[in-house]
Amino acid sequence: MTHPGQLLKQESLYAGKEMGQNFLACPATARMIVDRACISEDTRVLEIGPGLGALTIPIAAKTRHVIAVEKDRRLVPLLQKELENREIDWVKIVNQDFMKTDIRSLAKDNKLVVMGNLPYNISSQILFQLVRERAYIEKAFLMFQKELADRILALPGKKAYSRLSAIARYAADISFVANIGPAAFFPKPVVDSTVLVFDFIAPADVSRNTETLLFTVIKAAFSKRRKSLKNSLVGMDLGLDKPAVARALARADIVPERRAETLNVAEFLSLTRAVETLLPEKS
Ligand code: SAM
Repeated sequence: MTHPGQLLKQESLYAGKEMGQNFLACPATARMIVDRACISEDTRVLEIGPGLGALTIPIAAKTRHVIAVEKDRRLVPLLQKELENREIDWVKIVNQDFMKTDIRSLAKDNKLVVMGNLPYNISSQILFQLVRERAYIEKAFLMFQKELADRILALPGKKAYSRLSAIARYAADISFVANIGPAAFFPKPVVDSTVLVFDFIAPADVSRNTETLLFTVIKAAFSKRRKSLKNSLVGMDLGLDKPAVARALARADIVPERRAETLNVAEFLSLTRAVETLLPEKS
């Protein structure tokens, strides 16, 4: 692996902060992440933000089914060259914003394994997108800023427990893979990074509509996290007034003075089902 600093210098390019460009510069770390994904020759991998190929190259050594979505068009010819130098001609590079990528059309009939050392400025949005599209994804190996990974892993009652923790925990079994220090990157970030693996799940007894409402309930509850649920759920997002919120909480058997940060996923789900009974039926 050529050092990313050297590759960029050769082309008079720089790493862009606005695209979260901290490139992996440690081949052993890249190999460890790819090895943990247990990719076989049949695995179809979708990589988010391949950059200069630190993960792409070891991924392509394991499978010929690789799609890599990179937003920065300056990097595409460099990545192409890095692959050609290794006689790898089976990686499909898509020069596109991942947030505009149609995961379903890429998956076709086979679920994808998603991998990425994520651009840190949009990691949460990417995770929400993967959750929404998880019917087409088997699992995801993703690198986050450690602080964000801690929030994703946080349990109810902890300060770090957030909308992201509740939604991620509903949609996946999440495991910790590794912490990685700044020295493994170019340029070196000021923070540590963490790799997590998401084994996506879709509860059979939750319809698409109920799931959408669940995400709205979670969002509304956490948007005013310092308030008790009897207040935070009132208003715009759900369109419920105070008496309706009180009825929903009573039906779900949840004490109205509790706050969002104390509710586990099962409780959010029963609250959602109670809210559902109060909404007008859509024809
Ligand atoms: N995978 C490479 C590595 O590990 O060295 C690069 C990781 S770097 C943290 C994030 C990469 O995501 C960069 O290549 C950046 O250009 C790309 N990127 C940023 N925003 C993106 C977006 N919206 N869609 C696709 N790629 C994006």
